Amino acid sequence: MSKSSEKPVERPCAYCGKSPRVAAFAPFCSPGCQDRDLVQWLREGYVVPARDNEDELSDGASLDNLGSDG
Ligand SMILES: [Zn+2]
Repeated sequence: MSKSSEKPVERPCAYCGKSPRVAAFAPFCSPGCQDRDLVQWLREGYVVPARDNEDELSDGASLDNLGSDG
C-alpha cells in the first residue's frame, strides 16, 4: 500500500501471443487477431447442437408411424 504509481504490465495478444495487445482491440493486438479468435469459437459451437434434435425427431416419428398403422 505504499506504491504510488503502478505501471500496467504489457501483455501479449490473446490470440497470437506475439504483439502487445492494443486497447482498441483488447485483448488482441489487431482486428485480424480479434476476428480469427471469434471465428474459431463460432465454428466450435456450430457443429454440435443441430444433430441431437434431428435424431430424436426421426426416431420417434418412424416408430409411431409403424405402430399406428395396423
Ligand atoms: Zn495478435
